[in-house]
Amino acid sequence: MGTVITAANQKGGTGKTTTVANLAVYLAAYGKKVLVVDFDPQANATSTLLSPNSLSTHVYHTLVGGILPEDVIRPTGLFSLDVLPATPDLAGATIELVSLKNREFRLYDVINTVKDNYDYVLVDCPPSLGLLTLNSIVAADYVIIPVQSEYYALEGLSQLLGTIDLVNENLGRDVQVLGAVCTMFDRRNRLSRSVLKDIQRNFPGHVFDAVIPRNIALAEAPGYGKTIYQFDPTSAGANAYRYLAKEVIELTK
Ligand code: ADP
Ligand code: MG
Repeated sequence: MGTVITAANQKGGTGKTTTVANLAVYLAAYGKKVLVVDFDPQANATSTLLSPNSLSTHVYHTLVGGILPEDVIRPTGLFSLDVLPATPDLAGATIELVSLKNREFRLYDVINTVKDNYDYVLVDCPPSLGLLTLNSIVAADYVIIPVQSEYYALEGLSQLLGTIDLVNENLGRDVQVLGAVCTMFDRRNRLSRSVLKDIQRNFPGHVFDAVIPRNIALAEAPGYGKTIYQFDPTSAGANAYRYLAKEVIELTK
């Protein structure tokens, strides 16, 4: 049975997509079969993991068009890492989903049909608490919360945790917070260190030991359509995501 992990934080730019793409490749490097589900209309996980090609079908069609996910999923060529890609058309799904029955369970149903083929399914979601994110949370066994080590990092996290509680109370799910991961950390910077402490205070026992440094290679790799594993596997960013993958494997055993 595949473990479904969603990276969520309704703030933009906290490292969700970077975390999904690079955690995925290192889980795969550890021999796991991994599917990345791109559920953000910005489709940055897709462009990082798949070489540019015109996608005739994508995750949108599996939600509302009755297309099977197996027919849309593509291999990345990296280990056993596959992608259920997105395109900007996914934005339209938000509007269509509203009128569908079981609208919160659309992604859950799609993932359920394929998750037995994988050890891990990682879901990237948009920076909002809208219906796409709600679907991503409902579909999850676990949520990972990337938190940027910046001012206001913790702002809005109570709404995210509240949303997870509502999903569990009202939609019959049992979604757990696997942990918060501190991203874009600069150890020379006092603010970074104090934000990490705040995160640890807010999520006692639920903060990954892996701390993702602010690392230029992590920022550059997507521009080349590459994960950090391909772009600079000895960088500090690569080491951090490798370590995060190890922790995730340990915590979900
Ligand atoms: P989100 O998906 O939460 O909006 P992204 O993963 O897209 O956030 O990251 C936002 C921006 O910051 C991107 O340009 C990304 O390349 C960059 N970035 C993410 N993590 C790091 C990091 N650890 N070091 C440097 N740049 C990073
Ligand atoms: Mg993103």
